[in-house]
Amino acid sequence: MDEIKIIEELKTLGHIGFQSGMGTTRLAYSKDYIKGRKYIEQLMKDVGLKISLDSVGNLSGVLDGTIKKRIAVGSHLDTVPNGGIYDGALGVIAAIECVREFQKIGYKNRHTIEVIAFTEEEGNVIGGTFGSRCFAGQKIEPMEYKKMYQYGLNDNSILKAQRRKEDYICYLEYHIEQGGVLDNENKTIGIVEGIVGIIRFRATVQGTANHAGTTPMKLRDDAVVKACKIISDITDCVRCFHEDMVCTVGNIWVPNGAANVVPGECSFILELRGKSLGSLYQPIEYIRKKYKSRGLMLEQILEQHETEMDKEIVDLSESVCMGKRVSYKKMFSGAGHDAMNMALITPCGMIFVPSANGMSHNPQEYTDPKDILEGKNVLKEIILKIDAKGKKNDDINKKRNIDNSL
Ligand SMILES: [Zn+2]
Repeated sequence: MDEIKIIEELKTLGHIGFQSGMGTTRLAYSKDYIKGRKYIEQLMKDVGLKISLDSVGNLSGVLDGTIKKRIAVGSHLDTVPNGGIYDGALGVIAAIECVREFQKIGYKNRHTIEVIAFTEEEGNVIGGTFGSRCFAGQKIEPMEYKKMYQYGLNDNSILKAQRRKEDYICYLEYHIEQGGVLDNENKTIGIVEGIVGIIRFRATVQGTANHAGTTPMKLRDDAVVKACKIISDITDCVRCFHEDMVCTVGNIWVPNGAANVVPGECSFILELRGKSLGSLYQPIEYIRKKYKSRGLMLEQILEQHETEMDKEIVDLSESVCMGKRVSYKKMFSGAGHDAMNMALITPCGMIFVPSANGMSHNPQEYTDPKDILEGKNVLKEIILKIDAKGKKNDDINKKRNIDNSL
């Protein structure tokens, strides 16, 4: 029963690096990671894929077609520390399952199909989406170079891992949502229209340090109290006026803070994510103006552009879902994925399936097997439709060739 096979394979891979009560830990380049990759390599071989491992550890399995240009399908094999069994693994195992089903029905793929298992997407070892960044020839930060040397990688490994964009017609990624939108709205498939842009600022609020016992409340200039007002103000602004945006302060500290000192300074990291960079700056400008004269300084530390998925693939995914009568929702991904880098070299499409209670990066991560199979079927159909694109022209040309030979 192939339909159950994909769930069994997910569990088998999930057991590699699993510790009871702790979840699955398969950090890129670790012993368990290599063991997991070997398992996937064997699955790829078993369905007739030609294996290759690139110079940074991305694993590829290729199924030749009559057309050299490739349809790439995949995700990543590494996990966060104490993670679940679905994040990343699902996309790789489902892609292999699609190939298995093509073989079973004797389907002859026109385009070459490449199943990719990216390495180090989670960024706990070298840096986030490291494997696909190398694949797509993107920038590696100086700090990452230092870490990378520890794993026997060097500048040459990075250069050699880069692929040619001319070789691809698209990249498809099937992933769990890692949020609670689909589960909450009872939808089976998320059709990803794009991946959010991110900006981060280091905010510093000045006050006046003073004795906590002798300074009455009305005479205080307390930096933490001011910071709390600013944080509450910007989060309210995002909540009320920017439906598709999220704002987080996950890091806050008081330099030289002590229980008996009125805080003289408070710093925090402000992160905003949303569909477009332009609108992300609006709440920032709002607090910048409002609190400028009250001791707020903002220093930008990150700007990451949003990534758009290919419009044609989004439309195609929608028609596949409608044809199959599967409930779906077009949405943005709030989390980063390998598709962000692949989108820089080839048109990309992504589909999501629900994460129960929106939980991910956690041993509790769970997706209903029914949803998993539905997602795999949608993925398979998208691959078939893309593979068939331009087929009419091919058939006409074939006919012409036959006519000419008469
Ligand atoms: Zn992932």
